[in-house]
Amino acid sequence: TQAPVNVTVTGAAGQIGYALLFRIASGQLLGQDQPVRLRLLEIPQAVKAAEGTALELEDGAFPLLAGIDIVDDAKQAFDGTNVALLVGARPRTKGMERGDLLEANGGIFKPQGEAINAGAADDVKILVVGNPANTNALIAQAHAPDVPAERFTAMTRLDHNRALAQLAKKLGTPVSDIKKMTIWGNHSATQYPDIFNAEVKGGSAAEAVNDQNWLENEFIPRVAKRGAEIIEARGASSAASAANAAIDHVHDWVNGTPEGDWVSMGVPSDGSYGVPEGLISSFPVVCRGGAYEIVQGLEINDFSRSRIDASVGELTEERDAVRKLGLI
Ligand code: NDP
Repeated sequence: TQAPVNVTVTGAAGQIGYALLFRIASGQLLGQDQPVRLRLLEIPQAVKAAEGTALELEDGAFPLLAGIDIVDDAKQAFDGTNVALLVGARPRTKGMERGDLLEANGGIFKPQGEAINAGAADDVKILVVGNPANTNALIAQAHAPDVPAERFTAMTRLDHNRALAQLAKKLGTPVSDIKKMTIWGNHSATQYPDIFNAEVKGGSAAEAVNDQNWLENEFIPRVAKRGAEIIEARGASSAASAANAAIDHVHDWVNGTPEGDWVSMGVPSDGSYGVPEGLISSFPVVCRGGAYEIVQGLEINDFSRSRIDASVGELTEERDAVRKLGLI
């Protein structure tokens, strides 16, 4: 068998962590022949809860789980890490201004970026889940100058999966018939799920839908506000589907995307599609050999252009705000 891969999960005692860790241990993150060693990072007051989760992981008797370490220190958490899932973040609480939220997250993602820079393995891949994910990823990246910038990614896969599911429902077709969905921009209410480049059974998805009213007034807001719909229904946030999307994101990054399809990832812009270079924005990407590439040459119609510009404008504002705070 292969040597274990080190996977670090921050905020491991949280809701998403609880749904995520068992799937990593069972081999769904990296593959059924790849042992994993888990490193769980928590804040000191949540270490005990993380230890409780570790007892349950032990009780899973997972053949691929080579070990679990629980730490409250970022340097230890990222030492030798190959895959870093940054889930823990400071949630926005009532009355909190955006500046306060960004500053609180700067206090988390700056030291984590520094620790990744200092100790992570050369092949480290980083996925930021904790919100505001795109800008948190930007902060971490800014403090890891020795790590190739493109290794820092933010999760928009849950939005991507939500968009696939809603479109499949509208067309009365299985999700597997739909390819080339794209989420553009920020993982926020301004995100733009684009069906104009999507395909259903090889034909244009937008033509199959042929309903601009549904697109503008049902599909896009529903995908963007799905988190709130789930909190309303469940009385708790969408932790299991978020964990599922994190698994999908890393799995495809490591193992590749299927031929003739792509996925959405928040990645540093190279200037493609007019997105300012360096912003961590969601794009359509294909993954091959452990690396990803932004899909080039897609047609962007006027409707899509204005939606992408709005979301990218928000990302630019977030970047300027963290710059002003001295976080990047
Ligand atoms: P969750 O596990 O539910 O969520 C964690 C983060 O993921 C939040 O920032 C949340 O953002 C974000 N997120 C992204 N997508 C989703 C989604 N679809 N649904 C829900 N959340 C989503 O939070 P908990 O409060 O249960 O757990 C957080 C844990 O992180 C705690 O145990 C805390 O101690 C820990 N923590 C650890 C840190 C560290 O390791 N250094 C630092 C800070 C916290 P949003 O709130 O916007 O939904």
